[in-house]
Amino acid sequence: MKRSKDTFKLNYQYRIVPDNQQTYQLNEWLCKLCWIHNLMLEERFNWWECNRHPVNTCPIFITHLPELKDQPTYYSQKRAAHWSREAYKHLYEGVHSQVIQEAIKRVEDTFNRFIKGDLNGKRSGKPRFKSVRRYRTFSIPQLKPDCLAVTPNPHRRQNGDTRRDIAYINLPKVGQVKLIYHRPIPEGFTIKAALVSHRADGWYICLTLEDKSVPSLKLPKIEATQENSVGLDVGLEKFWTASDGEIEPIQQHYRRSESKLAKLANRKDSKPHKSASRRKLAKKISKHHQRLQRKRKQFHYESATKLVSRNEKVFFVEDIKPGNLSRKSKPKQDESGKYIPNGQSAKSGLNKSINDAGWGQFLSILTYKAAKAGKSVVKVKPHNTSQVCSCCNRLVKKDLSIRIHECLCGLILDRDWNAAINIKRVGLGIFPTIKRPKRSPERSRRATTKEAYTVIFDSV
Ligand SMILES: [Zn+2]
Repeated sequence: MKRSKDTFKLNYQYRIVPDNQQTYQLNEWLCKLCWIHNLMLEERFNWWECNRHPVNTCPIFITHLPELKDQPTYYSQKRAAHWSREAYKHLYEGVHSQVIQEAIKRVEDTFNRFIKGDLNGKRSGKPRFKSVRRYRTFSIPQLKPDCLAVTPNPHRRQNGDTRRDIAYINLPKVGQVKLIYHRPIPEGFTIKAALVSHRADGWYICLTLEDKSVPSLKLPKIEATQENSVGLDVGLEKFWTASDGEIEPIQQHYRRSESKLAKLANRKDSKPHKSASRRKLAKKISKHHQRLQRKRKQFHYESATKLVSRNEKVFFVEDIKPGNLSRKSKPKQDESGKYIPNGQSAKSGLNKSINDAGWGQFLSILTYKAAKAGKSVVKVKPHNTSQVCSCCNRLVKKDLSIRIHECLCGLILDRDWNAAINIKRVGLGIFPTIKRPKRSPERSRRATTKEAYTVIFDSV
């Protein structure tokens, strides 16, 4: 399917309530698509293993190079002649053909990200074979424009419209599925595609709506000045601190219900395998996680709205990678090979808090909301922003436990506030460049780390 990129698209999510027969059918589809996913992935891994050899470990002239196989592609894999033999008939029977093709496309995308990397050359991890429990989404690339039928509710009260309209969506090969029409589709938009997913509390459909008359959203280019910009420092003590001193308190949703979740997990583990009680408790736990995830997302939306409604037009944020921050510590060994403490127990507590804050999700929501309001979010490098004094550019070294920035010039400020001001200065290009000089052999190691930083004033 050709995906046009120059029209305005929106995603609207609705809950769907399939009847028993439809639920059975949707579950069966997911199960079959999961098998197809694993089958296609296996084929690609076989090609990958057969067609490469580590030349650095073995000279190429003694390496036996077998006949090279053709790389499986999306087109070769989706071709019916390629795999639809009698043996696989049970896999594709009853499933819509385009849904299968989309599942194969998904395998190609993940595999290409693994071997080639995305547009920026960033490679992701090895794709994994999925169990039926982990495969919970399929996409329908084409839907008829009139697939959604909405009829006004006959029992609606005259004053105070409390009852929703009744809506049914026509899914190919499944039929009319009841849809909870909690908000109307905006005028001028047509339904193009859908993503059906099975979650802890039921089934959901995410409709892609398109309006051909509106061009796609382009990020505006705004010249940042001292007045129209604001720097933001995200942290674990406060969710964010703005460069003018405004703060957003942090909400630790996971941390607050951690003990409750642990108790539930213990109870679940005490039940025998495959028992009904164990299954019920597992469902309870996943619903709890879903609730936490929704609370966190709502908080992110509210916080982003609060920022976007400010007068400033440019937001400077740290270019952080939460995935890297919450990485596990490397194991440490002494001379005899015995493992010694590496600080992981303290780090795992920090990791939980980092994941609970969810900065990655917040920053993407903020970018989207700002673009919608004609504002922009700029990511800047956060190096040394918490160490340099925002008043006199002096380097004041402090570790994470010191929360107050105290400088010889007399400036006493909250650590995060100082960092936020510095982030704004990085964005505006008035932050000094800090260079670490090359270590000379005469100087001791300790002396270089403590004193040898120099502050070079660039454009102050
Ligand atoms: Zn100072």
